[in-house]
Amino acid sequence: MASIAIVGAGQSGLHLGIGLLMAGHQVTLVSNRTGAQIAAGTVLSSQSMYGMALGLERELGIDFWQDEAPPYAGAQMRVADSDGNVMLFWQGAMDEPGQSIDQRVKMPRWIDRFVELGGDFVIEDAGIATLERLAAAHDLTVVAAGKGEVGALFERDPARSPYTAPQRVLALTYVNRFRPRPGVPAICININPGIGEFVSFPGLTLSGPCEIFTIECIPGGPMDQWADVKTPEDHLAMSEHLLRTFFPIEAERIDGHLELTDPGAVLRGRVTPTTKHPVATLPSGAIVMGLGDVVCLNDPLTGQGSNNAAKAAKIYLDAIAARGDEPFDRAWMEAVFETYWDYARYPVAYTNQTLGVPPEHMMRILKTAESDAGLAHIMANSFNDPKSIAPWYYDPAEAETFLAGRAALAA
Ligand SMILES: Cc1cc2nc3c(=O)[nH]c(=O)nc-3n(C[C@H](O)[C@H](O)[C@H](O)COP(=O)(O)OP(=O)(O)OC[C@H]3O[C@@H](n4cnc5c(N)ncnc54)[C@H](O)[C@@H]3O)c2cc1C
Repeated sequence: MASIAIVGAGQSGLHLGIGLLMAGHQVTLVSNRTGAQIAAGTVLSSQSMYGMALGLERELGIDFWQDEAPPYAGAQMRVADSDGNVMLFWQGAMDEPGQSIDQRVKMPRWIDRFVELGGDFVIEDAGIATLERLAAAHDLTVVAAGKGEVGALFERDPARSPYTAPQRVLALTYVNRFRPRPGVPAICININPGIGEFVSFPGLTLSGPCEIFTIECIPGGPMDQWADVKTPEDHLAMSEHLLRTFFPIEAERIDGHLELTDPGAVLRGRVTPTTKHPVATLPSGAIVMGLGDVVCLNDPLTGQGSNNAAKAAKIYLDAIAARGDEPFDRAWMEAVFETYWDYARYPVAYTNQTLGVPPEHMMRILKTAESDAGLAHIMANSFNDPKSIAPWYYDPAEAETFLAGRAALAA
């Protein structure tokens, strides 16, 4: 059995750590925060997760919130302007429900599980010196530090990173007094072209069920009004203002005035979508391997990051199991990441294509989903697996053939 160090107690690091302990390995997990500090902090994500990724958590027995978390069984997309004129609308059922557990609830419980299983949980803000120490003392060191600075050790891969700057200003809010959408609970994606998006779904937070929403503002556009927002109260007021101004149809769900679930229920930020090389070399020459957002960071628009983190952890777990007594060398690390990239290239393309000026073939597919219930169903399930809509969602010529096939089916 191997001795493995992980830096970062988030979605990917804890998933990997718990899986490794269950497989009999020795695991040290270095976190810059205790579970109590994570629980007492601000929200970290909207962490909408879908069937495949949730199934991987179920496999490890760490789906502790199955009975409490409000499930959502569908997806809807609406493109409309600020006057509420709808240009496109489709909705479809998900084959398996999605779920969102506040990471302030989830990670502390997973840390407890990690410790219960015999893992060595160390509180330390890992820098180069820590990584050197870990790499010298373990067979494999995995850096799963999310957007933490230590991730700068890994080099950007320009061939896999079309953007060099953030494409959205993000404002995340957990609220009460936002009525459920009519019909079955669903992830609701609202696009106001050229201005930004409003994405909402039900979730489970510290105080119980709530609605979680992310406002994605095009930088420099009319919704990019966050520069002077400092307090949670200002954040909430700005969110309600933007919702009422730019997404009037969704604003009808506001019951009086929105309320924060707790003072930590807001987050603002921006990310540059970036894929990196998976191996970093320390000053000593020792190597460490990246996992999750450290090496594959996406804008949250399509809700893929936590799902990717879980799927990557599973691929790493399987590869470690298959390695036996062989060393975890650079070639092995690169090969494991390529296995992950065979999948991750799709959620990355799915997200980047949605962030940019939408290609014509993509708009035709989404427009067809309006009247083609079968296609709407396929699109609703694409959140779970963006690979399932390859190649046609990503390629104009393939889209042509695919849509011709749909038209023939309908005729
Ligand atoms: C606004 C927003 C909304 C999102 N919505 C969704 C969504 O709906 N669906 C979805 O799938 N994804 C979503 N994501 C993305 C998702 O949250 C991340 O992709 C996912 O959490 C990544 O997991 P990770 O393990 O790589 O990193 P994280 O979960 O970020 O964990 C990293 C951990 O490492 C710790 N750390 C950092 N530096 C150090 C250090 N030097 N030493 C020790 N520990 C360190 C951090 O404190 C943290 O605990 C969203 C993200 C944002 C910002």
